[in-house]
Amino acid sequence: MTRVAITQCDSYEPEVVLQKIQKLVDSIGGIDKFVRPGCKVLLKPNLLSAGTPEQAITTHPVVVDAVLRMVKQRGAQVIMGDSSVDSNWKTIISKSGLQAVCERHGVPLKNLSLVNSVPKPSNTFKNLELAETLDEVDVVINLPKIKTHSQVYLTCAVKNLYGLVVGKRKLNWHLKTGINHDIFADLIVEIADQVKPALTIVDGILAMEGDGPGAAGTPRYLNCLIAGTDCMAIDRVVAELVGADLRLFYTHQSARRKNIGTNSLDRIDLVGDVSIEKLKVKDFHFPTPAGVIMMPEVLRPYLRHYLTAKPVVEPSKCILCRKCVEQCPTKVMSTDPVAKIVINYTECIRCACCIEVCPEGALAMKKGVVGKIADLAGIT
Ligand code: SF4
Ligand code: SF4
Repeated sequence: MTRVAITQCDSYEPEVVLQKIQKLVDSIGGIDKFVRPGCKVLLKPNLLSAGTPEQAITTHPVVVDAVLRMVKQRGAQVIMGDSSVDSNWKTIISKSGLQAVCERHGVPLKNLSLVNSVPKPSNTFKNLELAETLDEVDVVINLPKIKTHSQVYLTCAVKNLYGLVVGKRKLNWHLKTGINHDIFADLIVEIADQVKPALTIVDGILAMEGDGPGAAGTPRYLNCLIAGTDCMAIDRVVAELVGADLRLFYTHQSARRKNIGTNSLDRIDLVGDVSIEKLKVKDFHFPTPAGVIMMPEVLRPYLRHYLTAKPVVEPSKCILCRKCVEQCPTKVMSTDPVAKIVINYTECIRCACCIEVCPEGALAMKKGVVGKIADLAGIT
């Protein structure tokens, strides 16, 4: 059995959040179990793109501050770090509030940029390219936020660690894995299994629903904090909390296929001061699934392009900043005076990178006519 702890937390009141996180961590063994005096700790929040704490794109500074205080009290050396494909790192860290947190505590906030190739001969991917900083630290503490994700459906403990693939190398991996979301999910799961954070503390107070994980998503209070050591188990609990369709939760399905982590509720020892039944929400809004799930496996490669949802621009919201055009790994986006952004859907791999980086929330996954008809016929 793997233990996951959950608590209700209705606000970002700093002292309340600190107490709640301390209790959560105590119930899975206490901070002393994970952090030794003098050891080097990497705190890995979600710093996907520029957004204020109220937009729920990034891990809330009060949650990060609480964990930082606990870790520093243990006498550990702390580095905070993440890596975004968005080159506007300074804006990301200042808008998120994490720059101020780090300055207050005298802790470096690193834009992880150096790459280390990790050989994985026995896995699907023969090597993983991860931030070199991982080699310099003794402990990783994962600080994800609960958000919907237009490509992989839901992002939390497992997907947050994809941020340890450095900057634009993420785009190369999207290109390598192509339109097959199962393969991309395998990559994410293998990275999580390689990094194996000692501790994960989830910011689920203000989560994100709808067309996440960037500015097109909608903040939604879930009023909870979650802690555990097994990322897959934590994500399974989160899926339960938001009523996720497990067939569409690609990283969960991949972990089950690969038998990595704990993926079933009956093997999770769920503890805490509140029952999950009390915190469950029934009307959480998920993005339009980008993939093709129910279709026979043999037909998927041929019909994916026609049946999968595709990124669509809302011209009235687009400010023509060209961030999406620059980040698109397949270079299939171009600008147009009327439609603003034009996409070559034959070459588009539905990676959702454009949706992630759009600062205006002008892009979202939408099903085309063929996909809608297929839905009605029950084959997607
Ligand atoms: S258009 Fe968007 S979804 Fe398609 S390949 Fe480019 S970034 Fe990915
Ligand atoms: S769709 Fe978004 S990212 Fe792309 S140009 Fe318009 S505002 Fe910028």
